[in-house]
Amino acid sequence: MRGKIIKGIAGFYLVDCGGEVLTCKARGLFRKQGERPLVGDLAEVEAAQTSESEANIVALLPRRNRLIRPAVSNVDQALLVMAVKTPAPQFYLLDQYLVTMELQDIPAAILFTKEDLDSGELADYRRCYEAAGYPVFSVSAEKGSGIEALRGHLAGKTTVLAGPSGVGKSTLTNLLCPEAKMETGELSRKNARGKQTTRHTELFCLGENSYLLDTPGFTALEVKTDEAGLKQAFPEFRSLEGQCRFTGCNHRAEPNCAVKAAVERGYIAESRYESYRKMAEEIAERRKY
Ligand code: ZN
Repeated sequence: MRGKIIKGIAGFYLVDCGGEVLTCKARGLFRKQGERPLVGDLAEVEAAQTSESEANIVALLPRRNRLIRPAVSNVDQALLVMAVKTPAPQFYLLDQYLVTMELQDIPAAILFTKEDLDSGELADYRRCYEAAGYPVFSVSAEKGSGIEALRGHLAGKTTVLAGPSGVGKSTLTNLLCPEAKMETGELSRKNARGKQTTRHTELFCLGENSYLLDTPGFTALEVKTDEAGLKQAFPEFRSLEGQCRFTGCNHRAEPNCAVKAAVERGYIAESRYESYRKMAEEIAERRKY
């Protein structure tokens, strides 16, 4: 049987085999090979009824990608979440998330929650990020608006959810997946140590082959790249490649820079360019030590 690992806790793995979730143990051979099953892995499982588990994970299928933090594999896309207000969006953090995903070749989209609190700023946010090439969604859990469009975007994919606390990620997860709480309860029943479940990496099933991963505590980031990598991680800069006066232009102090010209003309959002400058400075600062 084949399934997807949706949760790992205290040596056990929950594997979703087409709707049926089995509690599994990984066989000893993984330890010998120095390989550990990850949430998101596709696994080959064999039934093995014991007192504590229902099946064994006997093999892992090759991974398409893997994130280090949170430790998860086979991610199709990221959904970066900010509230329209309360709390106000942290655009620098959002841009750091976007760069991190670009560096790992993971397509990203942006979701603004609390749409019902919008007093006109959402249109500006949307314009800023759509100009950069990112899909932008907005929802209101209060009014139930925007949920269906978002559901369409998540269908058939494994999506990693990231954003600061207070933006309503848990509310969103429960709205999209009413069974989210039930699965947690199920594991607690089978495994007494399952009490710390909420702090563990877990995929929530949203329907056939659609999974959502919440990433608690994922609120600060260090962008791990050099200056050359950083400018490639801004899609709106990439499209201007070759148009600056100097080859290898860093779009900072250089004259006749196509990126700076695009910022002045309003084709690139000033806040995005400012994030770029700040990240570039942080990278240069780190290199000194
Ligand atoms: Zn330039």
